[in-house]
Amino acid sequence: MGRAIAVANQKGGVGKTTTAINLSASLAELGQKVLVIDLDPQGNTTSGFGLNRNELEYTVYNLILGECKVEDCMKEDVIENLSIIPSSVDLAAAEIELIGVEGREFIIKRAIDEIKDDYDFIIIDCPPSLSMLTINAMTTADTVLVPIQCEYYALEGLTQLMHTINLVKGRLNPYLELEGVVFTMYDARTNLSLQVVENVKSNLKQNIYKTIIPRNIRLAESPSHGLPINLYDPKSTGAESYRLLAEEVIKRGKEEDEWQ
Ligand code: ADP
Ligand code: MG
Repeated sequence: MGRAIAVANQKGGVGKTTTAINLSASLAELGQKVLVIDLDPQGNTTSGFGLNRNELEYTVYNLILGECKVEDCMKEDVIENLSIIPSSVDLAAAEIELIGVEGREFIIKRAIDEIKDDYDFIIIDCPPSLSMLTINAMTTADTVLVPIQCEYYALEGLTQLMHTINLVKGRLNPYLELEGVVFTMYDARTNLSLQVVENVKSNLKQNIYKTIIPRNIRLAESPSHGLPINLYDPKSTGAESYRLLAEEVIKRGKEEDEWQ
């Protein structure tokens, strides 16, 4: 059964898209079959996999509005083992267009349910808001992965995010769990990064991934080449760390299966 993970944090610039792209690509490299859904109107995950957003006939926007089917908007095998449902700038208007539409919280879930079992992982990149798009990601997802940037205001907004996850769990998706927290942009040269990690660890009871993603310039460069880090610079510290994170994500899933 495919495991759907929403990468969410309503703060912008914390590493959601970088994590969605590179975790997905690393899972695919490890032989997992992956579907990526780009739910951010900015579409950085879409372009990060080398897709030209101006050349797409259908996107997740058309899927949400019922103008196309999943197979019409999905780009298959953009890299080995990985397909993507791309985003479009129009997506910013979807929120308004969905007002009054019954069951609007479940549009993506309904579309994905039929194909979920064709994949080992479905990774959903969320916009930097707790909007209807993020709610759609959370009703589709089994778990929420929260990237936390190692900076002074790291914990800001986290309470709201946890509250939203609990609301969705209580009212819309009883199966939703917190996948875990991932520290991003860790800078070993500063005390601040270390302090943030320690502070979050002592404040959060939830799962925290052992893998910490370092600040690595290659991770920031790779999207402009339309490549995930494991293809752009496979030996970089960024590539190595997302590979370790992917291994940890796979392992954690297996441990959970054993409990059921
Ligand atoms: P979000 O999706 O949460 O808004 P992004 O993944 O787009 O965040 O990251 C914000 C910026 O930081 C981008 O320019 C990205 O290239 C850069 N970035 C993200 N993670 C790293 C990292 N580990 N090292 C260096 N730069 C990073
Ligand atoms: Mg983003």
